[in-house]
Amino acid sequence: MKPYDAEGMTDNDLAGFQTFAPPRPSSVVTAGSASDVVKVVEYAAAQNLPVQVQATGHGRSMTEPGAVLIDTHLMNGVRVDPVNRTAWVEAGARWRAVLDAAAQFGLAAPSGSSPEVGAVGYTLGGGYGILARKHGLAVDQVRRMEVVTADGELRMVTADRDPDLCWALLGGRDNFGIVTGLEIGLFDTRTVYGGGMYFDTHLIPKVLAAYPEWTKSLPEAATASVGVIPLPNLPFIPEPIRGRQVAHVRIAFDGPAEIGEQLLAPIQAVGPRLLEHMRTMPYAESGSIYNDPPVPHAYSGDNVLLSDLNPTAVQRISAIVASGPVEPPVLDIRHLGGAVSRVPQVPSAIGFREAQYIVRVISMIGADGIESAWSVQRRLREALAPWTIGRALSFAYLPDPESDPVRTAFHPADYRRLTKLKAEYDPEELFRCGQRIVR
Ligand SMILES: Cc1cc2nc3c(=O)[nH]c(=O)nc-3n(C[C@H](O)[C@H](O)[C@H](O)COP(=O)(O)OP(=O)(O)OC[C@H]3O[C@@H](n4cnc5c(N)ncnc54)[C@H](O)[C@@H]3O)c2cc1C
Repeated sequence: MKPYDAEGMTDNDLAGFQTFAPPRPSSVVTAGSASDVVKVVEYAAAQNLPVQVQATGHGRSMTEPGAVLIDTHLMNGVRVDPVNRTAWVEAGARWRAVLDAAAQFGLAAPSGSSPEVGAVGYTLGGGYGILARKHGLAVDQVRRMEVVTADGELRMVTADRDPDLCWALLGGRDNFGIVTGLEIGLFDTRTVYGGGMYFDTHLIPKVLAAYPEWTKSLPEAATASVGVIPLPNLPFIPEPIRGRQVAHVRIAFDGPAEIGEQLLAPIQAVGPRLLEHMRTMPYAESGSIYNDPPVPHAYSGDNVLLSDLNPTAVQRISAIVASGPVEPPVLDIRHLGGAVSRVPQVPSAIGFREAQYIVRVISMIGADGIESAWSVQRRLREALAPWTIGRALSFAYLPDPESDPVRTAFHPADYRRLTKLKAEYDPEELFRCGQRIVR
């Protein structure tokens, strides 16, 4: 355990991947073990200071100044059990470490677009993976969790032994404790077929129009998405797409390349691609499908979960990303359904399983501040309100607090249950620095 006085730390030290509004903790503890986390929680409770947890900063919230920040990045161990096809994943491990460890046994994990994201934070928020339609959400694969609750107790939580706490942590995340490690199910998948294809600006409306019908034709073994991305004019971006607003169609398919190629035909028929890379790849290389930005930056984003994506909804989305005097936001529409929509074996607070698509907008925060990002998010929510059934908390990046992002991420009955359990497990609200469940 390495305790620091936060005064000596720079914004870069504290921020992690999200560089906007770095935390202002009173102290930072780089935890090396579960017992370190126990000590910090006991200390914070005795001092009446809130506790914040951070692995990578990819999903950091606006935080309360003066908190005790538990940095978990050194707790990055991963242990694979090839017989039971599970991995024990420590609090600070990134997906990259899990994917590499699982690959040694020909296994894969329910990871998402970026292998740099923390596996535990991602999973506790739901975890919409690249093969979600085949395997369900990451949260559905959790077998047990080691967690430090507000009373300083280190518990091994399972759905059978602690149904309430387990349900609440799986969705309510650090409102209910600091997870020091969890066991997650793996899949027998060595390779995946997929990649991305880029269409030029003038084809964006056509790609978006074709996307619903195309995705509805895909088998559950395939999960696709489309992004509309204003790419910067920077040398590391490949020349054909550099400095252009493009539609980026991605797909991951757990099946042979010959079938995968056939699945692509309807969307390829929209028009020529500026760039296309599709291949059968080791699952551990699946981060290349999305090619998410690896460099920390300041961003704000929000999302809506939709029951359907019809032509009117598509037109409204197209209007939001239409190029204009202001830099358009990044748009992402992921296809859901399949196993995501089935009742999971492990009960969790993650709801809205019936959603067929998730639509997200993400804006870079520049000199004009976060309000312009919030106004784009408001436009998205208003435009898609007729088809919106909920929100996903893990894709809410510093959204406008006025839009009530936490409450609306749960079914009303589930939110009431969460508030009751919050009163039971954390009556003093020691854990109030993340996306906060308010009683
Ligand atoms: C580039 C990028 C790509 C992404 N891709 C996907 C994707 O494909 N699918 C998807 O579902 N999500 C995706 N996300 C969202 C991501 O899952 C969330 O932002 C997640 O919270 C990140 O977790 P982290 O630990 O890396 O981040 P951190 O900012 O370190 O943590 C975020 C939050 O996770 C919780 N948390 C972290 N560690 C613990 C712990 N030990 N105990 C209790 N709570 C904890 C806390 O609430 C914390 O505030 C992506 C995000 C980014 C920025």
